[in-house]
Amino acid sequence: MISVSEALDKILGSATTLEKTVVPIEDALSYTLINDIKADRPIPPFNRVAMDGFAINSSDFKNKTAVDLQIAGRIQTGVKSGLIIYPGQAAQIMTGAPCPEGADAVIKIEDATINGDMVHLVAKKAKPGLNIAPMGEDAEEGKVLIEAGSPLTTAGIAICASVGIHEVPVYRKPKIKIISTGTEIIPPSETPLPHQIRDCNSFTLRVMSQLQNIEATFLGIGEDDLSLLGSMIHDGLDADILILSGGVSMGEFDHVPKLLESNGVKNIFHRIKVKPGKPVWFGKTETTYVFGLPGNPVSVQTCFRIFVEPLIKKLSGSKSPRHKFLKLPLAEDSISKANREHYMPGKLVIKDGWSAIEPVLIRGSGDYSNFEKSHGLFIFPAEIDLMNRGEMVDFLPWREIW
Ligand code: AMP
Ligand code: MG
Repeated sequence: MISVSEALDKILGSATTLEKTVVPIEDALSYTLINDIKADRPIPPFNRVAMDGFAINSSDFKNKTAVDLQIAGRIQTGVKSGLIIYPGQAAQIMTGAPCPEGADAVIKIEDATINGDMVHLVAKKAKPGLNIAPMGEDAEEGKVLIEAGSPLTTAGIAICASVGIHEVPVYRKPKIKIISTGTEIIPPSETPLPHQIRDCNSFTLRVMSQLQNIEATFLGIGEDDLSLLGSMIHDGLDADILILSGGVSMGEFDHVPKLLESNGVKNIFHRIKVKPGKPVWFGKTETTYVFGLPGNPVSVQTCFRIFVEPLIKKLSGSKSPRHKFLKLPLAEDSISKANREHYMPGKLVIKDGWSAIEPVLIRGSGDYSNFEKSHGLFIFPAEIDLMNRGEMVDFLPWREIW
């Protein structure tokens, strides 16, 4: 059986980045940029006033902490003004407006008392530049603000808009199709008979795909029946990624591996030395990557995070599709007799002012109810069966945070 790292090598090694496309920025969260995003003009684009108040010439304050100046005019944000400030004058001004010629400092409105066309201003240190963000202070024109190959973040989308890019060239994201298998599985809208189980996997798989800003389509529940399931698989093979849950273990009715192969999906591996997720099946056709995940809800969520997400990233153009783990101490002792790399649910807690991982106890891969308390997964190495409180673990939060 292969290890997690060998499985990831095979998954990523089999994958090629999808085509380029152009996406409106409001839809482009987490898409990988094809080009650098550059400042199209200096940021800020002019000497920008950072406070509501009075623009003045700081030499008026030489050796003084209070002055009375003549109000020469009023400058409103967004309205062009040719006002020039001469010594002895001040212009009433608003946050975000360009500082007028002749002025080099702004005294905030709270320190001003207006008296007709005069203003009394108080300032301990009215030096040049006070309350003004100089033109180009944050970035010169042409500066690379976000490098090609980066995933677009929420702040990155703000940058695109600010530099005039409302549609952005990116790599296409994979389209996912999902099948839940199992004769016992029924939709949650139906009332189960005692031997029936409500489908939850198709929902978590769709939602986990949506968190990657990916369109995922549910094809339905496939009974453990060769011809029914076979035709559903056939329909799923026009996706970029087809994910099936259930039916990949050793049971008599676990038809998924043979049906995938008879539908022309080349097997790349079946079974990984990992807990949960040992029966994972992975393969591909020319254009479709296929995962057969074990049906237990805990396995599905864990395997999507560990194995499917890096594939999504690679297909979407990421240069670093592998997970980045946080290193955090265990808040309590933890035991695993799995003899396989064990991805255990963990909760991020604050203990004595420090972040730590508290193991979330679950009874097995079917125990989805206790599993819900977890914030992510920590790795329990195969070779040991006890980890002590305070020992450092690799922690993968449910959502990528950087
Ligand atoms: P399997 O991998 O098909 O042997 O299924 C393992 C366990 O997961 C069984 O107890 C199934 O009833 C359960 N299971 C399979 N598919 C789903 C699903 N879509 N939603 C909830 N539980 C499931
Ligand atoms: Mg089954």
